[in-house]
Amino acid sequence: MTDYRNLIDGEMIDNGQWLDVVNPANEEVIGRVPACGKDELDRAVAAARRAFKTWSKTPVEERRAAIQKISAIIKDNADELHRLLTAEQGKPHQQAMGEIIGSSMMAGAQSTLDLEEVINEDSDQRLSRTRRVPVGVVGGIVPWNFPVMMAMQKIAPAMLSGCTIVLKPSPFTPLTTLRLAELIKDAVPAGVVNIITGEDSLGPLITGHPDIDKITFTGSTATGKKIMEGASKDLKRITLELGGNDASIVLPDADVEKVAEQLFWSSFTNAGQICVAAKRIYIHEDIYDDLSKAIAEYAKGVKVGDGSQQGTAVGPIQNKKQFDRVCELIQDAKDNGYNFLVGGDVDPSGSGYYVPITILDNPPEDARIVAEEQFGPVMPLMKFSSDEEVIERANNSEYGLAGAVWTKDVERGVKIAEQLETGTVWINEYLHLSPFAPFGGHKQSGFGAEYGIEGLKEFTYPQVITVKKNAAV
Ligand code: NAD
Repeated sequence: MTDYRNLIDGEMIDNGQWLDVVNPANEEVIGRVPACGKDELDRAVAAARRAFKTWSKTPVEERRAAIQKISAIIKDNADELHRLLTAEQGKPHQQAMGEIIGSSMMAGAQSTLDLEEVINEDSDQRLSRTRRVPVGVVGGIVPWNFPVMMAMQKIAPAMLSGCTIVLKPSPFTPLTTLRLAELIKDAVPAGVVNIITGEDSLGPLITGHPDIDKITFTGSTATGKKIMEGASKDLKRITLELGGNDASIVLPDADVEKVAEQLFWSSFTNAGQICVAAKRIYIHEDIYDDLSKAIAEYAKGVKVGDGSQQGTAVGPIQNKKQFDRVCELIQDAKDNGYNFLVGGDVDPSGSGYYVPITILDNPPEDARIVAEEQFGPVMPLMKFSSDEEVIERANNSEYGLAGAVWTKDVERGVKIAEQLETGTVWINEYLHLSPFAPFGGHKQSGFGAEYGIEGLKEFTYPQVITVKKNAAV
């Protein structure tokens, strides 16, 4: 077991109080991290405030170079980092490597973005321009499903915009982020990036901290609402990336053999613990029987197990609380007599939070597994008969994160996409996020956006400077 320390003001520190971190594949404690509270937070925020004075005036090319250095450090240490990520998060090695390399690539690509000045007016009377200025000290709060990707999703744009950041990983998955903190410690000036760990109770302290100017949060909708409330006291800027209950719509012209595997992974990657995983799959009635059979057949060949073992394609659920929730949804489906195509029997013996791949056959629209975000390896397949009907059903959700349409008729697919109430819609692919496109939820899936110029702008205020020409002064 290893002790991991926090990064505050350029130093790796601990406070002598510790939180255990468990490997979800076997429930063994694999590391300890500091259990921080107000004192450490105050220190981190003060360091970030001091660093902001210089960092916000540092030429953007230098800030860009620092992000690129971090991106290179992540890539150079991918072997070590991805193994640690599997051990704490549960995802199979290949997917952990995908997260690490993806984090490096996304950060590198984001570093190339430019917030250009806009000329509002250049007339005989005046020159008016809008520039973007950094908001100040950012509080970043991230979840346990993609701990490194989410951390970098916040650190990179904060640094590029000229902000400094205090980042809090999830107490379930802080290890890889703290190891990364150690690796990047000397690549950034002290205080620009601070990473501190603690229980969930550290979150509200960040949200309510009087010297933090903005909160960027990824996590559940329930916590997002509390953050909005907490941030309202001093009108902190907020960006919220929250839950989803994304619908995938398969039109009757889709090739059953070709889409079955893709649909499977759109739901079961990372054991279904992805905000933009396909959580409801609507299949046209003409191909429902064939496609549901093909998905079920494919599922039977996928191995669930310890992500560090060769051949494992779906790992355990990341933590006990989420495991219990997923089990409860499966039990609810059983109690209601819904039909299971695959899975449904959780083995309570042994260690590790394993849920078998579970696929439900056409449960009703008001079933909990359809109406709620499951965030686990349980997928409902549903039949539909017309475009109008399926659009209405897909939109019948408080969430509005993403969705997909699968069809050879791209025009029809786009027409459906334009009627979906979500921030992202994919046609014939899934889970693709671009560092250059805004990613954000409609309705209760979020507030604001990350990535792209729109995401970067969220770390800045617009400032308009107007010069009166030929003024009589
Ligand atoms: P969570 O909301 O329980 O926790 C997220 C983070 O918030 C953790 O670091 C936690 O310690 C902290 N936190 C908890 N209570 C807090 C409070 N009162 N104030 C401030 N911070 C607090 O979410 P989770 O269970 O870790 O993650 C799963 C959820 O995240 C799912 O709903 C999923 O859809 C969502 N998610 C969304 C995105 C996206 O980009 N939209 C990405 C990944 C996950």
